[in-house]
Amino acid sequence: MKVRVGINGYGTIGKRVADAVLKQRDMILAGVTKTKPNFEARMARQKGIKVYAASAEKLQAFKDAGIEVQGTLEDLLNEVDVIVDCTPGKVGATYKALYEKHKVKAIFQGGEKHEVAGFSFNAVCNYNDALGRDFVRVVSCNTTGLCRSLYAVDTEFGIRKSRVVLIRRGADPSEDKKGPINSIMPDPVSIPSHHGPDVQKVLPKIDITTSAFAVPTTLMHVHWLNLELEKEATEAEILSALSKYPRISLVSASDGIDSTAQVIEYARDLGRCRYDMPELIVFKESVKSFGREIYLTQAVHQESIVVPENIDAIRAMTNLCGTAEESMTMTNESLGLGGI
Ligand code: NAD
Repeated sequence: MKVRVGINGYGTIGKRVADAVLKQRDMILAGVTKTKPNFEARMARQKGIKVYAASAEKLQAFKDAGIEVQGTLEDLLNEVDVIVDCTPGKVGATYKALYEKHKVKAIFQGGEKHEVAGFSFNAVCNYNDALGRDFVRVVSCNTTGLCRSLYAVDTEFGIRKSRVVLIRRGADPSEDKKGPINSIMPDPVSIPSHHGPDVQKVLPKIDITTSAFAVPTTLMHVHWLNLELEKEATEAEILSALSKYPRISLVSASDGIDSTAQVIEYARDLGRCRYDMPELIVFKESVKSFGREIYLTQAVHQESIVVPENIDAIRAMTNLCGTAEESMTMTNESLGLGGI
């Protein structure tokens, strides 16, 4: 059986999820929606992807631009089992009633509130709780990164307390109207930032306080974690625990990877499409243990880290796959994750 998937919103996340769906042997990409007949719509057609106008009023613009469209979002909804909503934050919520009307399952992204789906997802943490659900929210890039490392450390050693500082990229590379361009911006000034409570939507037992700062870079986010554990762990034990997870990659300063610029250079040299790095990156030399108190620094490629999570969410919601491990392995292999 193949699940038919549509993408509403073909931007930063949507075009990556679309490409990932095309690589799954148990999924079919039915089509994507575009609001404007721009280069991304043209590119989708060049790849053989069916394009639908986001609304009926936009159909003429596509016609005028000479870009073939199959209809509107409502036509796409008639062709799919699952719609992956990748519209900008808070826009997804406005579509929920339409998805319900068409009786399609829907995945929302981290820019929506938890309540939109009533369930926040991360594959390694709560895949089984997503089985058969009609609505799922894949948490944001920062929350996904935190969930991966906190889950790994908590499973092995137990976490009593986590204190995290997030240094956030100011904008994605294509966002030429966003900043800051010359500032370090507490985001927000008050504590906590929304990331800690968001992690708790996935891992409710984790005691976590987060503080976030936006800085003028587009490549990646960086997180500094200070964790108090239930039991003592050496640096080697922590690294060994993290290395069991294919979606966590350990990189080394002694190997020349000591910044987000070098991580991205590595992704480029690996020939990764769009220099994507969906793995959570942990800098090996940052892992420091003082018995039950540990520190580590990790980096998150914001544009791609949630892509494998969306693929696993599709499998869980449609019961395509027996276990989380089976789904994650299929996703990892099809996207070439792990092994770095
Ligand atoms: P984006 O702006 O790059 O892409 C959104 C796309 O949706 C654009 O193509 C836009 O034209 C289209 N769109 C706008 N209004 C629409 C509408 N009414 N109907 C249909 N399409 C519409 O945004 P993004 O960065 O891909 O973010 C999408 C979601 O993913 C948000 O919830 C965001 O918070 C979340 N997210 C983003 C990142 C990131 O770093 N970019 C990381 C993780 C999660």
